[in-house]
Amino acid sequence: MTGAPLFENVTLIGIGLIGSSLSHAMRKHGLAGAITVATRRQETLDRAIELGLCTTGTLDFGAAVKDADLVIICTPMGVYKDIGTEIAPHLKAGAIVTDVGSVKFPVFQTLAPTLPDHVHLVPGHPVAGTEYSGPDAGFAALFEKRWTLLTPADRTDADAIQKVTTLWERCGAMVEVMDAAHHDQVLAITSHLPHLIAYTIVGTATDLGEDLQKEVIKFSASGFRDFTRIAASDPTMWRDIFLTNREAVLDVLGRFDEDLTELKRAIRRGDGEKLFEHFSRTRTIRRGVIDADQA
Ligand code: NAP
Repeated sequence: MTGAPLFENVTLIGIGLIGSSLSHAMRKHGLAGAITVATRRQETLDRAIELGLCTTGTLDFGAAVKDADLVIICTPMGVYKDIGTEIAPHLKAGAIVTDVGSVKFPVFQTLAPTLPDHVHLVPGHPVAGTEYSGPDAGFAALFEKRWTLLTPADRTDADAIQKVTTLWERCGAMVEVMDAAHHDQVLAITSHLPHLIAYTIVGTATDLGEDLQKEVIKFSASGFRDFTRIAASDPTMWRDIFLTNREAVLDVLGRFDEDLTELKRAIRRGDGEKLFEHFSRTRTIRRGVIDADQA
């Protein structure tokens, strides 16, 4: 890699799946002069150092950000307020603070009020992931051909937004800037509701009698398997997603409920035409996903 890195000093707070994937991608593409990692537990930090994910590492979040040009918060969203309060007095003037949290509007209620005026906040969300967690789970290609959505406030410095956009693009992502509340509505239907359904189905199977449960696992290839993968996602992260995106999720859940009731009625009445019409309509969405290269 030739030329100056995009950022001299990058600090990753949190080094799980997303933080470690960012470290791999930034190192692969020469985007950071130095990477400092700060995390909560010593064992995670030791592992991050062992894996070569950082230039330096610390458990002291304030010390970790003092030289940073870019701070990327990669922790569960439930601790944003505490992290903001801890790092705020140590941030350099002109530093950019971003995050990777899955819900965006609450960033303006938790993190933003803790930060000084002399930094630029550019919230972000890579729409990419796996069901694995921790520093071993990351890989450089995670963000390739996947969307990263940025949700800065209207008055945010355009250069800061551009630099964060460039960072993600050079990690292989496609970037779109959108309103935070709109982001949360879109993700409620594309990500949060499907996860809730998966958690429900797998939970129902867990409560079945032992014999039936064995058969569910044995014959899981008939559709259940895909739900088990989704329902194996990190419980802390998903708890925080449903707590922080409550209104949008409840709204979309209400619509889902109505549609489910309609399908239940069609099944009860033996209304094959209605069922066929519904299943044909939904096939076109799948074709759209494939055409958009997101399958
Ligand atoms: P992860 O693999 O579980 O890693 C979480 C990291 O946050 C670890 O370094 C952990 O530190 C740290 N952390 C946990 N609790 C903390 C606390 N109370 N205080 C300080 N640090 C704490 O998580 P992840 O999957 O990378 O997710 C991180 C963020 O990315 C979440 O906000 C999530 O919404 C977002 N996201 C995730 C995905 C996905 O598919 N996983 C996709 C898009 C966005 P220790 O190990 O030291 O405790």
